[in-house]
Amino acid sequence: MRRGITRRDFLNGVALSVGGVLLSPREAFGLRFDDAARGTAPYPPALTGLRGSHEGSFEVAHAVRDGSFWKTVGPAADNGETYDLVVVGAGISGLASAWYFRKAAGPAARILILDNHDDFGGHARRNEFQVGKRTLIGYGGTFAIDSPAPYSRAASALVAELGVDVSRWERMLERGLYARLGMGSAVFFDRATFGADRLLRAPGKGEADPWPAFLAQAPLSEAARRDIRRLVKEPADYLPGLDDDAKKARLARMSYADFLAKSAGCHPDVLPFFQARPHALYGLGIDAVSALDAWGLGLPGFAGMKLGPTAGPGMGLDARPGRRSPFVHFPDGNATLARLLVQRLIPRAVPGCSVADVAVGRADYTRLDEPGPARLRLNSTVVRVRHAGDSAQAAEVEVSYARRGRLESVRGSNCVLACWSSVIPYLCPELPQDQREALADAAKVPIVYTNVVLRDWTSFHALRVSQVHCPGSFHTSVDLDLPVRVGRYRPPRQPNEPIVVHMMRTPCLPGLPGREQHRAGRRELLATTFETFERNVREQLARMLGAGGFDPARDVLALTVNRWPHGYAYQYNSLWDPFWIDGGPLPCVAARQPFGRIAIANADAAAYAYTDAAIDQAHRAVGELLRLTVAPATGARP
Ligand SMILES: Cc1cc2nc3c(=O)[nH]c(=O)nc-3n(C[C@H](O)[C@H](O)[C@H](O)COP(=O)(O)OP(=O)(O)OC[C@H]3O[C@@H](n4cnc5c(N)ncnc54)[C@H](O)[C@@H]3O)c2cc1C
Repeated sequence: MRRGITRRDFLNGVALSVGGVLLSPREAFGLRFDDAARGTAPYPPALTGLRGSHEGSFEVAHAVRDGSFWKTVGPAADNGETYDLVVVGAGISGLASAWYFRKAAGPAARILILDNHDDFGGHARRNEFQVGKRTLIGYGGTFAIDSPAPYSRAASALVAELGVDVSRWERMLERGLYARLGMGSAVFFDRATFGADRLLRAPGKGEADPWPAFLAQAPLSEAARRDIRRLVKEPADYLPGLDDDAKKARLARMSYADFLAKSAGCHPDVLPFFQARPHALYGLGIDAVSALDAWGLGLPGFAGMKLGPTAGPGMGLDARPGRRSPFVHFPDGNATLARLLVQRLIPRAVPGCSVADVAVGRADYTRLDEPGPARLRLNSTVVRVRHAGDSAQAAEVEVSYARRGRLESVRGSNCVLACWSSVIPYLCPELPQDQREALADAAKVPIVYTNVVLRDWTSFHALRVSQVHCPGSFHTSVDLDLPVRVGRYRPPRQPNEPIVVHMMRTPCLPGLPGREQHRAGRRELLATTFETFERNVREQLARMLGAGGFDPARDVLALTVNRWPHGYAYQYNSLWDPFWIDGGPLPCVAARQPFGRIAIANADAAAYAYTDAAIDQAHRAVGELLRLTVAPATGARP
């Protein structure tokens, strides 16, 4: 913290120090020496600073939203390109749409994929860091193949056809590495929320009676300690006299915060301790997540309530009991899936013979948009999608996009909108009014995945922590990267090696209804500078790990802030969406109806924030365009 912060947003992280040697701006920008020698474009995964929805990716879309874009732009230049399919959005859903279409139409099918970012994969984003000769890979978004319900047949088949063997996971993960080093989970209490900075090992599952010792050291009031102890140690029925159905119905209509305060009679000082527990899944705290979901997620207070092991009406998709999907985490998360899809579509852009080659290797971004049957055009914000004539009879769709300050247009016999639902009404004013309203309902969840490269993790080791929950801090979680081996990629195994530390923040405004919290968080996120992120990262890590010898000026080598103002797809919530309990029609179903030669994909179309939803919705959308008979996408989901 002693060293002044000299970096600014527009510099994207200049002057990073590696082992005491200042990096040149080129290195700090993520450019490698061979880039310089070849004079090639930057390699997006290696760019540091503010990434995710980076500067330059959203301004055009916001101008369209605000009505200023069309006042200033000139006429679109028709570049004469025609395609069998134009896909808007190069996330997993857009890439999967292209893949399904190509499977049906054959390898000669002409496909163009457009995306407003400088990288592909949408939320499935890769971060790469060069520390000396070593490459460290991190995930800037989608963490893993992991869903609260089993993958559909279509999604499982896609994953398998890409060559991903989900049964290999146990061999990829070095399970127990941190535990063998004596490290485990911890809670960081911060001064502003709890009156004192304190890092405490979390009550461990293996220990006989871990809570009393934990609570004794926690900077909590006597009343909070007493009530937390009661919640976890003295099971009670807080809704006596009701049967299972009636209890679940009540729990679905009250927040977990209200359950704790009103039903379980906890002192208000208890709430900050649990406030951020649902952040990673909901982007919201316990004020905006139902008690029923809290029960499903295993939060305390329900052990004595004799709730049957079945979901209640209105239970969130994340919280429902039942089988989960298989789990696989590549070092870059599901960006490996995105790369594998791009490899199938544009083999020259992603070299490699195996999944491991693709997970570890370097994609060639200069080849994505070369002439060929399939092309991927980045930095291209689609601003208008309209049929050439009446939608019922038109043979083509005209797709206009802004690239390098110019408006261009192409034509497609078919179009999949795999972009965010809330964008579509602005692109496609010809859609029916009620469909546009249903599309606008899909307010995304803002979320930030910050990757910090540390010179070493000796401070974590000294304090015996590998992952920390920080209920009151700027970032509410801090995790050492999972030790995963893929191909020639080896994770750091010794505390003196450099490592990627993953931190998460979900901006929200407790007290407001869920969607409004997301909107407020999005506004906050777009107004937060890289400098603010950096200062908070350094300060939080220094306060948390200082006793272990952490020095931010010496230890932080690089920082990539993946901000996603439009992050997770909005999932329905029994507190705010009465139809989710009562069984009324779902906005996502009205929103995703095909219109002429335009079909709608994206995880938003299922109101389900998981990769399998993105794939399933692609499968459905392409099926609609091809007039194929396909099974409904996500089966029993929403
Ligand atoms: C931080 C984070 C972590 C996640 N972790 C997991 C996880 O561990 N497991 C899991 O299964 N799921 C996870 N998810 C959810 C998962 O990433 C998504 O469900 C899935 O990847 C969404 O894919 P998509 O293609 O539907 O949307 P996106 O990935 O959002 O892709 C849509 C693309 O369309 C682009 N676009 C929007 N408007 C335009 C326009 N006008 N012109 C051109 N392009 C446009 C967007 O910029 C974006 O690139 C996570 C999501 C986030 C944000």
